[in-house]
Amino acid sequence: MKLTILGCYSATPRALNNTTSQVLEINNHMFLIDCGEGTQVQLRKHRIKFNRIKHIFISHLHGDHFFGLVGLISTFRLLTRETDLHIYGPKGIKEVITLQMKLADSWTNYNLIFHELTSKKTKLVFEDDKVVVHTIPLNHRVYTNGFLFKEKEGERKLDIVAVENANIDTAYFRKLKQGFDVENRDGVLIDNKKVTKPAKKPKSYAFCSDTMFKEDIVPIIKNVDVLYHESTFLEKHANLALKTKHSTAKEAAKIAKHANVGTLVLGHYSTRYDGLNAFKEEAQTVFDNVELSEDGKVFNF
Ligand SMILES: [Zn+2]
Repeated sequence: MKLTILGCYSATPRALNNTTSQVLEINNHMFLIDCGEGTQVQLRKHRIKFNRIKHIFISHLHGDHFFGLVGLISTFRLLTRETDLHIYGPKGIKEVITLQMKLADSWTNYNLIFHELTSKKTKLVFEDDKVVVHTIPLNHRVYTNGFLFKEKEGERKLDIVAVENANIDTAYFRKLKQGFDVENRDGVLIDNKKVTKPAKKPKSYAFCSDTMFKEDIVPIIKNVDVLYHESTFLEKHANLALKTKHSTAKEAAKIAKHANVGTLVLGHYSTRYDGLNAFKEEAQTVFDNVELSEDGKVFNF
């Protein structure tokens, strides 16, 4: 699982700071999560192939999370894209994007498929044989969802030597991979665990931005490998966090701790602060394993 942070600042793009966007590579998928202004420039900078992006997840309709979307859609058209593009986001996203295309008379020559979200409960939004994606309902000034990306449990691996020694017919290999005990050629029942090895542990990633402290997301994101949680402010500005429905670094850490996540990645920083270390220090008073996102940073988990 590889996470590339394209932008991790709030509000407005600046010379050296980009607004929210990131790319998650998981099981051969390349998911784009949020699409702040300048996302396509960041994609080029980090040599991410445009045509590998087939699914875009938008958390909410504040500009710093989607103002790059219409530009990216337009660029895909100019690059003569033919592959379908799926966009998951709040109700209204189709209207705001298609209005701009309509007034410019610039429709795409590929299928643009909108999946508009309205539910305030967690919902399954994407599934194939390897990966599932659910929404994480958040609490912000407008309707907002985070997204939970999870690999499915893989198949068990055959221990070829053990399988041969146990005299099992190849016709049963599929059943073995699925975890069943099977009979060998002599009619003896073979314990699955003696001839197979466990599948690799499925990876999971939760993206939570923007939101105020919302403890009821904990059961949804319980035990994820990596949690990206917004930390727009430090505790000294907790009043601003409350007023604008954002979180502090300490609150993000509390969520990470209660959900027992592997790693907490902080982001969506207000640009009022001079450096990022204070975010990490504040979070680490509650939860140890904290990483700071920075524009261009790549995490391999
Ligand atoms: Zn917002």
